Amino acid sequence: MKKERTVRPETLVAQGLGHMDSEFKGIIPGIFPSTTFERDVDGGYPSGRVYTRDQNPNYDQPEAVLTALEKGADSFLFSSGMSAAVTVFQALRPGDHVIAPKVMYWSLRNWLATYATEWGIETSFVDNGDLDALKAAVRPGQTRLLWLETPANPTWVVDDIAGWAEVARSCGARLAVDNTVATPILTRPLELGADIVMHSATKYLNGHSDVLAGALVTRQADEFWDRIRTIRAAGGAVMGPFEAWLLMRGMRTLSIRVRQASTNALKIAEALKTHAGIAEVLYPGLPEHKNHAVAASQMTGGFGGMLSIRVAGGEARAMNVAGRLTLFKRATSLGGVESLVEHRASIEGAGTPCPTDLLRLSVGIEDASDLIADLEQALEE
Ligand code: PLP
Repeated sequence: MKKERTVRPETLVAQGLGHMDSEFKGIIPGIFPSTTFERDVDGGYPSGRVYTRDQNPNYDQPEAVLTALEKGADSFLFSSGMSAAVTVFQALRPGDHVIAPKVMYWSLRNWLATYATEWGIETSFVDNGDLDALKAAVRPGQTRLLWLETPANPTWVVDDIAGWAEVARSCGARLAVDNTVATPILTRPLELGADIVMHSATKYLNGHSDVLAGALVTRQADEFWDRIRTIRAAGGAVMGPFEAWLLMRGMRTLSIRVRQASTNALKIAEALKTHAGIAEVLYPGLPEHKNHAVAASQMTGGFGGMLSIRVAGGEARAMNVAGRLTLFKRATSLGGVESLVEHRASIEGAGTPCPTDLLRLSVGIEDASDLIADLEQALEE
């Protein structure tokens, strides 16, 4: 019998799992703007599709590729990372309890602390990297979801996904992981015991800062996943066909972009860690990073393209350094091919745990020595 061949993630993502245009044999599937699909004379739906809200053909390929990359059972695209995340919490029931880390994507944390609470979902925020604090926050019979982001925005603290999954299992809760920053190229949370993976596909999956998108991937297509499917179909927080097509075009180069960004970020972290103008470099790839061992055990082939620097001299100096950078563009967001810098505390606003001397760098795929030279000239006295 012929042995079944499995291909590596780099191959399956570059080839988009081999999906093609079935009408003309174009090697890239087309864009399907139709909102509705014809019925048969007997009332059936020969294409298996009725209406575009959750059935647009342009979702098929990126969803299938994501499912394969994350090694899950199914995936859904959403109109943004936030809509994907919020749908997971909407699938809970009033009275359910959630545990999330204190350091995580700020808008989602704010939403959990305000609107989700008003709808009867209470969240306990625990210190990142502290499994004992996580265990102590569990409310038996009430905790239904653990939410984790790792490496976490904007200090890049790394949590032990397998450790969180064990706590989730022990209390009968699900574990959902925001894998936006690591991407499935570097970390596969479902293999480590998570139940759901979430992406802001706006970031690395698309990679070109020109599509807003989100995605969820599940380990098993169970009753909870059905609730998510229904909420997406009813609420319609879906992508347009053009955007889904663009997302797929970006995803084809995911592995080389993520690896190049990771290599560049590590070079920058190494170059700056002893710089007199820097108080601290926060990057899990540095051996001296407090979570380096966990990061090394659950991240394969790199530590990602995100790092932060704490500028010696405080907030005013940090702002000044950001203002003097020329290659790094001053803008929010991350995961594009171009490098960005952001003074994170002033974006997050009042109550942020982010240090005011911190600049967040989204490192792109440019030449590392050019990026280092830009940072060095900006840090000159
Ligand atoms: N999760 C992380 C880690 C993010 O950085 C972001 C956006 O910045 C989101 C979620 C939200 O995604 P979106 O902007 O696509 O709604």
